[in-house]
Amino acid sequence: MATGKINVSVENIFPLIKKFLYSDHEIFLRELISNATDATLKLKHLTSIGEAKVEYGDPKIEVKVDKEAKEIRIIDQGIGMTSDEVKKYINEVAFSGAEEFLDKYKDAGKDAGIIGHFGLGFYSAFMVADKVEILTKSFKDEPAVHWSCDGSPEFELKETDRTERGTEIVLHIAEDSTEFLEDSKIRELLKKYNKFMPIPIKFGTRTETLPKPEDAKEDDPAPTQEVDDIINNPTPAWTKKPNDLKDEDYASFYRELYPMQFEEPLFNIHLNVDYPFNLTGILYFPKLTNDLNIQKDRIQLYQNQVFVTDNVEGIVPEFLTMLKGVIDSPDIPLNVSRSYLQADGAVKKISSYITKKVADKLSSLFKNNREDFEKKWNDIKVVIEYGMLSEDKFFEKAEKFALYPTVNNEYFTYEELEAKIKDTQTDKDDKMVILYASDEEAQHSYIEAAKAKGYEVLLMDSPIVPHLIQKLETSKEKISFARVDADHIDNLIKKEDTSISKLSDEEKDKLKEQIEGVIGEKSAFTVQLEAMDSTAQPFIITEPEFMRRMK
Ligand code: ADP
Ligand code: MG
Repeated sequence: MATGKINVSVENIFPLIKKFLYSDHEIFLRELISNATDATLKLKHLTSIGEAKVEYGDPKIEVKVDKEAKEIRIIDQGIGMTSDEVKKYINEVAFSGAEEFLDKYKDAGKDAGIIGHFGLGFYSAFMVADKVEILTKSFKDEPAVHWSCDGSPEFELKETDRTERGTEIVLHIAEDSTEFLEDSKIRELLKKYNKFMPIPIKFGTRTETLPKPEDAKEDDPAPTQEVDDIINNPTPAWTKKPNDLKDEDYASFYRELYPMQFEEPLFNIHLNVDYPFNLTGILYFPKLTNDLNIQKDRIQLYQNQVFVTDNVEGIVPEFLTMLKGVIDSPDIPLNVSRSYLQADGAVKKISSYITKKVADKLSSLFKNNREDFEKKWNDIKVVIEYGMLSEDKFFEKAEKFALYPTVNNEYFTYEELEAKIKDTQTDKDDKMVILYASDEEAQHSYIEAAKAKGYEVLLMDSPIVPHLIQKLETSKEKISFARVDADHIDNLIKKEDTSISKLSDEEKDKLKEQIEGVIGEKSAFTVQLEAMDSTAQPFIITEPEFMRRMK
């Protein structure tokens, strides 16, 4: 047996860890399971290149809680550690990491926005335990070792007769942390942080119902068996190639992510890039209401399949925080404040990549199936309009697919709208005037009046509209918006409107009579003089649909 002293400059760092991270004690489990996962993946790698001559098998990680003994155990079948490795990696690497973290944290920690206290490491165990033991056997042919430490810089290290390869961490839970001895608490944490980690994680067993044998009688109970309760999905959809996924796979992954959400998403965007930064993920466009506040904090951030946070502020542009889904990137620095993030080069690139992907997806939906895009417009417009306002790059792209619905339920792009009204809706300064209604019911009579004049009236009822209007007015020359009940819309000029005189009702009747006399009164044609006020044509002669079909 050997004892030793951990070489750290702070006499006892554990009270400090506890004190600084008091609100985040629960992350000890994520850290220890991350280590167990790393150890397993390292073994996988070493066996695959032939460096470890052992059977990799079908390893899992197991978490056990013993409430009586006040112990939590995290057991893996990974590479394990030799005695020398424990000295090096635990006594030196882990503890120097702890010290370094505390140094940084003392300053950054005052800034409340630290992302996720990520990578705190092995020593985070001391946030909940007053004694920690490691039982480990390396894949190398060396004796197993037993390390234990009660939180002071002194530790104990001895050989032991363990035969299974891998590492078992034993936490002796402190009096102030007994909440972690509840199965329900541990299950909740595993579901929160480890739901998509790459190695199966077992927590207890569950009863599985098997199919009835063929010769079973009607009221024979179905047979059951106890199976490992694996709490995670080691291969979530975002880790797969887009080509290998069908619509249904995206839909079922959405349900897996948000089990309590019953509304289907409208569409998804698969993110997948490995240069100049690494990022994978799937974003979903949910149906959105006009209430922007309740929509936040829905995208989950992961790092190598480990959950970090569901607050992605500062990482994705704000207008996209209304989306849902997952992003996973090892390139986002996490033990830093959010204000630092915004200045980070990698994060900036990631943010603009995501913006571009979203714009490209919207653009292709628009091009490939305009009808469907129009149907979805009301559910997605908040994001798009908000994006157009806040990100110039997005504005440039969205200009081509952003839609402007009219009170007649038509949907124009800006370009189409312009073509439609540039000759009929200009004011005396030769500015194109875009008419809109903000409340279809209250402005009904104005809308009807404008329609009667042949004007297009947009329906703009989202809360962002006043800002969007301002943005459009300043980014385009020679346009102005006017609400349909504004008085100056009476003065709009039709460019070709040169010569038509307005007729009185009496004159209209007379003219109608004359024209009908020419084309034959009982013919199928109808003369519409009402059109005279709203178009450049003096009158319209319409022909019923059935007449045209007969030709
Ligand atoms: P990090 O994981 O960032 O390297 P940690 O403090 O979590 O830092 O762990 C320190 C080191 O201890 C790891 O790099 C690894 O070498 C070793 N280690 C920790 N847990 C295990 C384990 N379950 N199996 C094998 N080695 C481990
Ligand atoms: Mg670690």
